[in-house]
Amino acid sequence: MQKNEMVTVTIEDLSQNGEGIGKADGYTLFIKGAVIGDRVRAKIIKAKKTYGYARVEELLSPSASRVSPACPIAEPCGGCQLQNMTYEAQLAFKQKKVADSFARLGHLADVPMLPIKGMEHPFRYRNKAQVPVSRDRNGRLIAGFYAGRTHSVIPQEDCLLGAEENAQIVRMVLDHMERCHIPPYEEETGNGLLRHILIRKGFATGEWMVCLIINGDHFPKMEQLTKQLLTIPGMTDISLNINKERNNVILGRTICQVYGPGYITDYIGNVAYRISPLSFYQVNPVQTEVLYGTALDYAGLTGQETVWDLYCGIGTISLFLAQKAKQVYGVEIVEAAIRDARENAALNQLHNAEFFVGKAEEVLPQKYEGEQIQADVIVVDPPRKGCDKAVLDTMIQMAPKRIVYVSCDPATLARDVRVLVDAGYRLEKVQPVDMFPNTVHVETITSLYKK
Ligand code: SAH
Repeated sequence: MQKNEMVTVTIEDLSQNGEGIGKADGYTLFIKGAVIGDRVRAKIIKAKKTYGYARVEELLSPSASRVSPACPIAEPCGGCQLQNMTYEAQLAFKQKKVADSFARLGHLADVPMLPIKGMEHPFRYRNKAQVPVSRDRNGRLIAGFYAGRTHSVIPQEDCLLGAEENAQIVRMVLDHMERCHIPPYEEETGNGLLRHILIRKGFATGEWMVCLIINGDHFPKMEQLTKQLLTIPGMTDISLNINKERNNVILGRTICQVYGPGYITDYIGNVAYRISPLSFYQVNPVQTEVLYGTALDYAGLTGQETVWDLYCGIGTISLFLAQKAKQVYGVEIVEAAIRDARENAALNQLHNAEFFVGKAEEVLPQKYEGEQIQADVIVVDPPRKGCDKAVLDTMIQMAPKRIVYVSCDPATLARDVRVLVDAGYRLEKVQPVDMFPNTVHVETITSLYKK
């Protein structure tokens, strides 16, 4: 196959980035904007040895699961890779992705897969928005989203994954900037003031937070803007975040409080969490409750167990488990997250949760070999690269009755589960959960028990 060649392809799968994948004479092609089930005529734009990229020239027969995206900028934005598929088809794709990973990468047949838990409403689920501010070619102030893999802003004040009020808040800020002649930050020169608008909503409490990320020390006439923002019901916390660095990290370290206590509160199930502008917090609270509720269920706790929660973040899962366990130990590499975890444990009067800062692959072996700490249940929720080998080895030595594995990457999940199965664990349940509708991501929760 060569560049500029025309081919006819039926799309059979989707890549990590949501590109359609199909074969022409056994040669694999990645085709942007094509949906599973589409038959397209496409032009090859880049040909590598074993695969290539092509562009749709003609949609010969559209897939039955093709829909027009609800968001006008879905394609250039790139945040939602699957908006051109029905929600049912999205769920089927995710279910298959998990099943295929277990079969192909884990070499595990007859996996006990449960049907994916999707959302009733696959839009407006995000509790957080980070909106970059810029100017368009005519010098007009705009706020929106970065065009896929670039840093040029496409104006779109209302992201359909976020809360409806976000657009109103963004508008208030932009109007204030127009009135007071406040310039947006420019990445190329490092000049200008406002970089991003961070908005968070506590879905369970209705509390709102607005944080303006600025390249300076104060924001002109902030009292006027604050007054306006306070007309939004539930507005609880308003702050400035100082970021004068010339890089693309969004938040700086310093917060200047303008109004409110410095945090909003939200609940997942019965557990309260305090969220500051710098805290990590799951972005889809509805599905987080589904995911962690399932983790709690799979842990099968009676109140007598010692439980480890590895890669615990701010302790969301740990505190969920602490409600039903004798003792929970959490391990996490980010110190600030552990600070939040400890505060949240105190806030909820859960005195049976203890947290350690450090690498799971170092802390767990130390605690096991050094202090001979035991585990009845181990829960892990690692980043995409999965569990470190030292973590798996130590878990196997500790021989807990149950292991609950929460994963954001089915490939590394299948790889790690294989190791546990070979070491004498039986795979009991595999439950995919759709935490991020309209995107290619899928979360999976797996329970294993010792034979
Ligand atoms: N369950 C958590 C989220 C887990 S995301 C929550 O709900 O908050 C994965 C976490 O693993 C992140 O917080 C990341 O900082 C942490 N992490 C990454 N590498 C790690 C390591 N080697 N040891 C411990 N934690 C790690």
